[in-house]
Amino acid sequence: MENQRESHMQQRKKRRVVLFPLPLQGHINPMLQLANILYDKGLSITVIHTNFNSPNTCNYPHFDFCSIPDGLLEGGASTSDVIALIELLNVNCVVPFRDCLAKLLSNVEEESIACLITDTVYHFTQPVADSLKLPWIVLRTSSISSFLAFAATSLLHEKGYFPIQDSEAEAPVQEVPSLRMKDIPIIETHDAENFYQLLVRSMSQTKASSGLIWNSFQELEQDALTTLQRDFRMRIFPIGPFHKYFPASSSSLLSQDKSSISWLDKQAPKSVLYVSFGSIAAVNETEFLEIAWGLANSGVPFLWVVRPGLVRGFEWLEPLPKGFLEMLDGRAHVVKWAPQQEVLAHPATGGFWTHNGWNSTMESICEGVPMICQPCFGDQLVNARYVSHVWRVGLHLEKRLERGEIERAIRKVILEAEGQEMRDKIMQLKKKVDVSLRQGGSSYQSLESLISYIESF
Ligand code: UDP
Repeated sequence: MENQRESHMQQRKKRRVVLFPLPLQGHINPMLQLANILYDKGLSITVIHTNFNSPNTCNYPHFDFCSIPDGLLEGGASTSDVIALIELLNVNCVVPFRDCLAKLLSNVEEESIACLITDTVYHFTQPVADSLKLPWIVLRTSSISSFLAFAATSLLHEKGYFPIQDSEAEAPVQEVPSLRMKDIPIIETHDAENFYQLLVRSMSQTKASSGLIWNSFQELEQDALTTLQRDFRMRIFPIGPFHKYFPASSSSLLSQDKSSISWLDKQAPKSVLYVSFGSIAAVNETEFLEIAWGLANSGVPFLWVVRPGLVRGFEWLEPLPKGFLEMLDGRAHVVKWAPQQEVLAHPATGGFWTHNGWNSTMESICEGVPMICQPCFGDQLVNARYVSHVWRVGLHLEKRLERGEIERAIRKVILEAEGQEMRDKIMQLKKKVDVSLRQGGSSYQSLESLISYIESF
């Protein structure tokens, strides 16, 4: 890798890119992966980050880091209301971010700063970049399809469609093929109007940016990409999946329990269900117990990530009945956080029960692991619909969480022909991923044009 970078550096003059990740796990991972991808192509990297959920800088000795105060703890922010958290960041970071960026611009001697790359939901960064005359590119960490769904949500809100009535839940959304009204990516917050405001702002800032980078690939989302190109008429770079260039382990905020892998090593090929709902989703005690009994009754071995805080009001596993795990006699392994990409790539992993965060969905596709979809909010609802009804590589658990339903879904995906069909289909997608990343492939070419574009500033 270092040789590849050296040769890029010799061919091109030195340029620096400044990146600013949103401090949530599902946003930090792709932004730091992107930073590594750009570094390998010969660009120098500076990461501006908040104190809240700050990345482990020791894992990136080749980057420069600048920390800015975010005032989040004083504001009582938490990931239980993501929209409120994002709003607070968009207010609190304006001055420290502008000061930090201005200082960086005035300090640089041998290398000039080519551009700023920020997360789309940081809408305050556009006026800052404009006032400093710095080109500004945005990274969208979700799928292209869910971005279009967010754009449609904004329109539907203007037309007065919300809140959705039960009688309309199954109705198709004209603006986004394949979605029903109940798949619209709503995110609950203390004041619904804040969510719609954020949508409007981030859509208009996205349109005003110099370009849009996606952690997705053309072959997976061709139709959505065509619509995006038609509606947004801007430079678009689908260069994903990022984690195939660099694993996310170095940007993990929680320590990954490696016992997951030694436990998987003892299991039969494709026999294990991996269960994780990501870094934010939470369930109540009743749902947690239904999940636990559904897993137990399925008879299938399972590796279960129970993140501290997953069950609202509890520290960790306290709601489980006494002796529950012992009763399973080695068929279950429970961890607080797993090395997810290694788990999905392990030969023993046969299925993934997921909340369909975009990173998890892409990681599953890249390893050819069929899914059970359990979306909780926002883009997860759209991803689940695409996984189950467009790409047909997963089963959507749509009804309320109930142990009998869960048991049947698990057996279908791991043990029955339906699961095998999904596995065959997702293996086809996996092959397309590999082709897109190879020389001449769609993501490969898109990355080349992104690099030339950045160097043209
Ligand atoms: N992840 C992990 N260990 C776990 C669960 C998740 O390393 O036990 C990683 C996963 O590989 C992914 C990220 O955390 O890169 C979660 O992002 P995603 O978009 O799937 O969901 P979010 O956490 O944003 O809801």
